[in-house]
Order: sequence, then C-alpha cells, then structure tokens
Amino acid sequence: MKKETVIKKNDDIRLSITALTSQGSGLGRYRDMAVFVEGTAPGDEIEAHIIKVKSSYAVGKIKRIIKPAPCRVDSDCEYDSRCGGCAYRHITYEKELEIKKQTVDDALRRIGGLDISAKQILSIERPEYYRNKAQIPVGIDESGKLLTGFYSRRTHRITDSRECLLQMKEFNMLLPAVREYILENPVTVYNEESGTGLLRHIYFRRARSTGEIMVCIVINGDSLPKQERLIGKLLATGLDVKSVILNVNKEKTNVVLGERCITIYGSDYIEDVLCGLRFRISPLSFYQVNPEGTELLYGKAKEYACLTGEETLLDLYCGTGTIGLTMADSVKKLIGVEIIPQAIENAKENARLNGIENAEFFCDDAQGAAKTLYEQGIHPDVVVLDPPRKGCSPDVIETVAKMSPDRVVYVSCDPATLARDLALFAPLGYEAAEVTAVDMFPRTVHVESAVKLIKKQ
Ligand code: SAH
Repeated sequence: MKKETVIKKNDDIRLSITALTSQGSGLGRYRDMAVFVEGTAPGDEIEAHIIKVKSSYAVGKIKRIIKPAPCRVDSDCEYDSRCGGCAYRHITYEKELEIKKQTVDDALRRIGGLDISAKQILSIERPEYYRNKAQIPVGIDESGKLLTGFYSRRTHRITDSRECLLQMKEFNMLLPAVREYILENPVTVYNEESGTGLLRHIYFRRARSTGEIMVCIVINGDSLPKQERLIGKLLATGLDVKSVILNVNKEKTNVVLGERCITIYGSDYIEDVLCGLRFRISPLSFYQVNPEGTELLYGKAKEYACLTGEETLLDLYCGTGTIGLTMADSVKKLIGVEIIPQAIENAKENARLNGIENAEFFCDDAQGAAKTLYEQGIHPDVVVLDPPRKGCSPDVIETVAKMSPDRVVYVSCDPATLARDLALFAPLGYEAAEVTAVDMFPRTVHVESAVKLIKKQ
C-alpha cells in the first residue's frame, strides 16, 4: 500500500521559507516535509500551491505572498519569471552575497567536514551589465513574427526580448541593428525541428578594457545574403565594432557554434586587457565572461600563491593560460596543462602576445600530466588547480601531494566538489588555510571560491 503523504498534489498550504538551496530555490518545512518553492526568499510567509509530491519532499509554486521577507525586492526584469538566467533578482544584492557566502561555508562544513569558513565574499562594483558575451537564439513564432531572445526556462522555446540586465549594454544596442537587417532582407530563420532555414544565433562579444566588439552570426549555410547591409547597420550604431564573423553550423544539434569561421568585416579577433595582460578573443576561444570579477578572483589566487620570483608554478586545468600567465612575472617558471588542444594553442599565443618567455604549455589530461611531471622529477613549489565543476579526481590530488609543493591554490566554481576535494587533501598533509568566495556571476546561482592550502610541517 502506498504510504499516505502529509501533502497532496494541488494542495494549498501556508509555508515559511527558511532557507535557499544552492540552486536558488526557497525551502520551507510543512510538518517535517521539505517543500521547495522557486522565486521565494528566506523570511517569506507564503501560500504555496503544491505541484509535485515525492516521498521525501514536495515542490510548490507561489500562490500568494502573505508576508514578504525583509530582503525581498521587486524584480527589475520583466522576463525574470520565464528566463532561467537569474535566480536572485527578487532579493537584495546584499542578501544574495550573504547567501552565497553561506553556501560556501555550509559546503566546507557539511561536505568537507572542515572547520573553516570563507573569510569574505568579494563582489564587483555593480552586479549588472557585466557579461561580455551573449548568444541569442533566433526563430519565428506561428504567426511568422521574428523572435530574438532567450530559451524559456527548461525549454527550447524562444521568448522574444530586447534587453538583458546581465549582458553589456552595447549588446542591447546592437540587437535592433541585426533584427532590422533580418526583417529587411531575404534571410530565412533556422527551424530546430526541420533543420532548415539559415540564421541560427546572434553572438556578441565585447572586450571590457578596450571596448572592442565582435559580432558573430551563426548560420546553417556558407554565406549571408546582402551581408554588406548587415555590416552597414552595425557600423551605423557608432559602437566600436571591430570584427564581423560568420560561424558555420550545419549540424542538427543544440551546440551553438560550428567549427568554421568566415570573417566578413575587420579583424578575426578582438583584444582585451585583463590583469595588465593582452588577450585575443576569437569566436571559438574561451574567455571568462565577467572580466571585472575575474580580476578579483585571479588577484586573490595570486595573493594566495605567495610568489617570490623563485618558484616553479604548475597551473593544471589552465584553459587558455590566463591564471598562470597573470602570475608569470612573479615566478621563475610556469607550466600549464590543459586537455583541449585549441585552448593550449591559445595559451601559447597569449604568452607570445605578452612577451612571456618563462611559460610552457602541454596538452594533456591533468592526471597523466601530473604523473609524468612527477616521474621526471619536477617538483613545483606552487600548484594552481582550477578544475571544471566536477572537481579533481582523487588520483590528481594524490599526485599533486606527492610532488610536495609548499602551497596549492584551489580555484573552484562548485563549493560542493571543492569541499570534497579539500577533505581529500587534508590527510595528505595539505591544510586549507584561507578561503575567499568571489561573486563572479551576480544574480545567478553560481559562486566561485579561491582557497590557499599549505603543506603542514
Ligand atoms: N583556468 C582557466 C580555465 C578553467 S575551466 C581559466 O581561468 O580560464 C577548467 C578547464 O579544465 C577547462 O579549460 C577544461 O577544458 C579543462 N579540463 C577539464 N578536464 C580536464 C582534465 N581532465 N585535464 C586537464 N584539463 C581539463
């Protein structure tokens, strides 16, 4: 017999929201049952309509706010309820920072079993218009109206929108120019189901320090009709458009970009300055989306590395080399390792571009590279780890510990896997000495951290 639960689907219940999950959903308890409600804030008293019941938890949506939490504010984005990008627009930014720091602290304590909490959370000056990259899907609705906007939360339906409060303002000014071009010219729009139609995505990038802009049009074809008219409209905005590129993607896939790029105006890349170094950004190269936040994070990582100019520094998971390169002026030798060949090419080019001669980059798996370096007798004084969300494998942690560096700087985009990995470092003699959380992605659920680990004597 199925156990009777305390809540049934379609019930309306009164709920006090007491916490937020790391995914940004509000959490309340109804007679010992956890109830998750999106769009709520800790301190809210609400009437919730139950939409899903499982054996150990239920999911509801807000029916009515009985008493708003002190930290609740009206969302300033008209698309907030449909877009999955932001999680905290209905909460003050101060409270968001407090919640994010708490998320890191909770993970360290509960998952890592560690007796340490983040010393602080760093944030950029204004939590808006920071994203230097936008990928805007293009489609049409049943009536043939042009849609350019975002995929609605958990769907592949495009919601038409004109503004995103996270993306750099220039993109909101360029979008109308591209729309005008599409509407005035014989350009078809891609249909995901049939795989027909030309124009798939509008992709903008802007270098924050130099102001240079790249406009990339993703097409299911090899050319764009009347492309000079598009270029004319983009230049007429008066913005610093340095590069207009077609990216060819003929695959039936959710992956936005194809491999082939055709420059139709200006340069193949734009250039930005980050931590005093120049970086080239091409359509396919990885570049951090919040440069101001990145400077905070890299600055903290460099501080934690405590460099004197005599060290050998190993940057595992180095991507396009950015973290290590910003430390290259303070070390004797930099070794970067990364699994994606193209990123390694970019890293080498970035070193050349900045006249950095004490850096070497290898394309390899972190585990394999760490083992090889260890067997070659290379003992880095400092190791920087910046793995993807899933963290480091236990083998990597073991090999890094065997190399016996004085310090390890762990940069992480996921507090849970960070805490798990720090717990693995502890019995190998590496103690987390200081943690700083960094709000690299204001208004979204994501939070980054930098940790200084030191070798116990
Ligand atoms: N440090 C860089 C990139 C961090 S993102 C920056 O700040 O920009 C994590 C990087 O780890 C990605 O570039 C990813 O391609 C790389 N990566 C993922 N798995 C890896 C593995 N097993 N070995 C080496 N690198 C890996």
